[in-house]
Formats: sequence, C-alpha cells, structure tokens
Amino acid sequence: MNIQEHSLTQNSTKQTVEKIAIIGAGPGGLATAIALRNQGFDVQVYEKAQEFRPAGTGLGLTPNGLNCLEAISPGIVESLKSAGCELRQSALKNVNGETIRTNTAKYLEKYGQTFIIIWWWNLQQVLASRLPSEIIHLNHRCIGFQQNDRSVEIYFDGGNTVNADFVIGADGVNSAIRETLTGEGQPNYLRSMCWRSVIKYNHDLFNSNDLIFVKGNRQFMYLLNVGDGYTSWISRKFLPDYSLSQSAEQVKSRILNELKDWDKSFRAVVEATPAEQIMEHPICDRPPLTHWSRGRVTLLGDAAHPMAPALAQGANSTFEDAYELQACLSQESHLEAALNRYEQRCIERTQVIQARSALGEMRYYEIDTETFDRQMQERSQLVNNDDFQSWLYSYKPY
Ligand SMILES: Cc1cc2nc3c(=O)[nH]c(=O)nc-3n(C[C@H](O)[C@H](O)[C@H](O)COP(=O)(O)OP(=O)(O)OC[C@H]3O[C@@H](n4cnc5c(N)ncnc54)[C@H](O)[C@@H]3O)c2cc1C
Repeated sequence: MNIQEHSLTQNSTKQTVEKIAIIGAGPGGLATAIALRNQGFDVQVYEKAQEFRPAGTGLGLTPNGLNCLEAISPGIVESLKSAGCELRQSALKNVNGETIRTNTAKYLEKYGQTFIIIWWWNLQQVLASRLPSEIIHLNHRCIGFQQNDRSVEIYFDGGNTVNADFVIGADGVNSAIRETLTGEGQPNYLRSMCWRSVIKYNHDLFNSNDLIFVKGNRQFMYLLNVGDGYTSWISRKFLPDYSLSQSAEQVKSRILNELKDWDKSFRAVVEATPAEQIMEHPICDRPPLTHWSRGRVTLLGDAAHPMAPALAQGANSTFEDAYELQACLSQESHLEAALNRYEQRCIERTQVIQARSALGEMRYYEIDTETFDRQMQERSQLVNNDDFQSWLYSYKPY
C-alpha cells in the first residue's frame, strides 16, 4: 500500500489527532513533516536556528534511507542526486597519499537503490523546499513541555508557548524533548574526537573517486565530494578523554598538528578552510531506550537513537523512523496504539544499528576492548558483516 492509499483508510489517527508539532527542522523533522502532511495532518515545525544557513557535514545516504525518502516524497532521490553526488568509486589511501585500493560502488546492482553523498545543509534545503515555508517556524528553541490527556503545551525560549495534540521530538542528540521525557543528562562520549568542515575547494584528489578514506594510526580522515565543487572533510582521532579548544584558531592549529605527518594534499584541504568554519566536537551516543513515547509525545531520529557515524546510518535510520511513524499513524485510529506499533517497528532495529555503529567506530581505530566488543556484539546480534550489510540496506518501506 502506498502513502496515498493509506491516507484513504478510515483507520487513521487523524480522527483523534489533528495538530502535530515537530521540534527540529533537521532531516528527521522535515521528512516527517512531509510524510504527515501527505496524510492530511496539520503539521507545524519549530526550529531553534534563526535562519537556514550552511551547516552540518557531508552525509552518505544509503539504499534503506533513500527508499524511505522516496516512499515519503516520490522523485526526491533524483533531486538529491542533483543537490549532491552519486557515489561511483571510493578509494582507501594511506597517510602518504598512496592508494591502497579502490572500490566501484555496487549499491544499485545489489540493493536496487543508489548511494548519494550530500551536504547536510543541501539535504535540509531539498526537504524544506517540499514544504510550505509558513509551517516552519525558525527562532523557536524548545525548552520543554507539559502534557495532559487532551493536549501538550510546548515551551520555547523567550516565553512563547504552543499547544498541539501530538509532539514529535526531532531535535537531535541534545534533544530538549528527550531530556524532558527521561531527564538523563549528557550523552556518552565514545572516545572518538571529530574535526570537520565543508568548503568549496579545487583539487585533483577526487579524480574518479568521490569518497576517499585515509587511514592513519588511530586516526582517519574522510574526503567527500558533496557536489558543485564542495568538499566535506571529516577527521577523527581516538582520544580516551577529550578537551575542547579555546578558539577557532586553536581548533585549526590543533587539527593541522594532528595531521603533521600526513601528505600535504590532505593538509592542504584543512589549510584552505577558514578557522571559524571548522567544527570540533566529541562523537557521542546514548543508551538505547525501551520506549520512545509517553502519552502524546514521541522521539525520532538522533533524539531517539543518536549513534556513532561509523556506518553512515544516523540520517538513514531517521528516514526509516519518519516513514514508519506516518505509516503507524495512518493505520491505527488511536495514538497510543500507533505509537506502540511505531516503537515495535523501530526500536529493536535501531538498537542493533546503534550498537554496530559504536563497535564500528572503535574498529576504525583497531581498538579491541574485549568487554566493549562483547557487549556491542550481543546488542547488535548479527556478527557477520555481509549479513549485516544486506539486512541494513535491504530494508524497504512496504
Ligand atoms: C561527522 C558526522 C558524520 C555523519 N555521517 C553520516 C552519514 O554519512 N550518513 C548518515 O545517515 N548520517 C550521518 N551522520 C549523522 C546524521 O548527521 C544525523 O543522524 C542526522 O542529521 C539526524 O537527523 P535529525 O533530524 O534527527 O537530527 P539533527 O540533524 O541533529 O537535526 C536536529 C534539528 O533540530 C534543531 N534543534 C535542536 N535542538 C532544538 C530545540 N531545543 N528546539 C528547536 N530545534 C532544535 C537543530 O537546530 C536541527 O536543525 C553523521 C554525523 C556526524 C557528526
């Protein structure tokens, strides 16, 4: 059954829920807004940023995530290809710049869908362009909510309040909605530190490779062709404890120092980046939750299951959530039943992906901590990598 057919079913939560507030206009919030508007819900999105501006990193969108987006908004994969870059070939290099191996992308042949590399900000723009601008309320930082049997009152910085029948927290790893639901505090640092930026940069590093992975000693770097002459670079290093630099200049000199023994072609990308455009941050996740919802409030995307970026699944699993949430709301006439079904469909799968991502992050550094490995393998269930990839990428909206 496709989305349009769902919307014709009588059995929709629409009979009891009309007004939906989504907190966060990231990939998760916007994809969910598109999906729920297709079902006829009155959706409003509240975003803390004062304006849409260049932000975020280069992302890999894999078949599972793209299939869900295409089901939500037919034709969007073609728009994403134009706004980003369809992966043709990737290369593994050492820090001296020598190519160790190249791989031709076979996602289309193997999984029936392509692999797209795109800048987070371009992805946000493609999604936002599929919504009426008046439903996206910028400069709305949510600071909490209160709910009763009939509605939810949402609080924003500066004293604004909004009422809704149902609230979706799509406000990322430091979600205010999750904090109000669980009170769990700071995320877990995964012993991996990250420096990154996206810049317009002319170089011949890419040639026929759209993705370059450079492996150093407990340190690595990604160079991603995100299209239109832009390069996303992401450098990560194993650091048991982390400290943040005091200024933009310090961030830049720190990362250049980390790369001091690396080939000049890699250092040149960092040197060409204005210091104030380099992000420095710890890689974090959170423990899996047994429930994402309480009453009239639920979580989605990084707010529900933040994960290490090792498997490129944060945004992709977020699109799975968006698809599943709209499907559950269209199939159940009561919100509670819809949210139970949403959790049943998503929680177990994302727990596996989260655990596998944490494991993947440490495997990048060849860190073998026996207990950590065992714990994550138990949580991730599927140990064999081929089985895991096939299970991951073959996920299709039904
Ligand atoms: C280095 C790195 C590489 C990555 N690579 C990949 C990849 O290759 N593939 C992939 O799928 N994923 C990748 N990810 C993960 C991906 O970026 C996230 O999983 C994805 O963006 C999650 O989407 P989201 O909408 O849930 O949250 P976010 O993208 O975090 O968006 C949340 C939105 O909510 C807004 N917000 C936050 N707090 C509030 C508040 N209190 N009130 C209102 N608005 C608020 C934010 O401004 C933002 O717009 C990577 C992440 C990193 C750090």
